[in-house]
Amino acid sequence: MTEVLLDIRGITKRFGAVTACEEVSLTLRRGEIHALIGPNGAGKSTLIGQIAGSLRPDAGSVWFDGHDVTALDTAARARAGLARTFQISSLAMEMTVLQNAVLGALGARGRVMRFFRDVMRDSALRAVAREALDRVGLWDVAAHRVGDLSHGQRRQLEVAVALTQAPKAFLMDEPMAGLGAEGSARMTRFLDGLRQHAPILLVEHDMDAVFALADRVSVLVYGRVIATGAPDAIRRDARVREAYLGD
Ligand code: ADP
Ligand code: MG
Repeated sequence: MTEVLLDIRGITKRFGAVTACEEVSLTLRRGEIHALIGPNGAGKSTLIGQIAGSLRPDAGSVWFDGHDVTALDTAARARAGLARTFQISSLAMEMTVLQNAVLGALGARGRVMRFFRDVMRDSALRAVAREALDRVGLWDVAAHRVGDLSHGQRRQLEVAVALTQAPKAFLMDEPMAGLGAEGSARMTRFLDGLRQHAPILLVEHDMDAVFALADRVSVLVYGRVIATGAPDAIRRDARVREAYLGD
């Protein structure tokens, strides 16, 4: 088992005259949180899209768990264990927390079941859903409608749905956005525990969260990685301070 789970090699992506990513290379190792920071428009979301498979790179490749996945679509990459979270719209708001998790577990098995009622009564699916909800701390609200959850709880549910699919790595684009100080602190503790389950490539603007969580930090500016290193080294890096963190 290699230490590097996700290996991004020389990714370049252009939108017309804009080069959103320019020869970006970085890795995600087992057990780590690797934070990707940088100013608005730096190309962070574009990079995540290319790793998840929703965007095709113009050059470069994405290797996951020892395989070149560059030609695979998002569904195939998800099946391979690459989970992209925090697309809130993928939750069914009128259904309960448990129902969402059970449907996640069903999707992961690729099983076809005709009746919603049968799906919800399936004890194996319910067990997988319960374990995932337990892990993210949402079992207490399993019977609540998703529409009644807080913003932060919905994000935790996104992770629970991903967990039902036994991901090997998480891609997260700004999980703290819109959470407020208390919600961000709670999410920080949550992500801290999640890293043991699967490593996280974390795009985040909240620098308190980044420096509390990250094992490594990469800084993207105008589509280029200008530095990768331990949080302390990144904080002190003169180019990073000039380009992004400020004094
Ligand atoms: P970040 O997530 O770091 O804020 P993005 O990856 O969203 O940055 O955007 C990087 C650059 O690519 C920006 O200049 C943005 O305007 C441009 N861009 C992103 N997506 C598209 C698109 N679909 N079409 C054209 N330009 C895009
Ligand atoms: Mg973005």
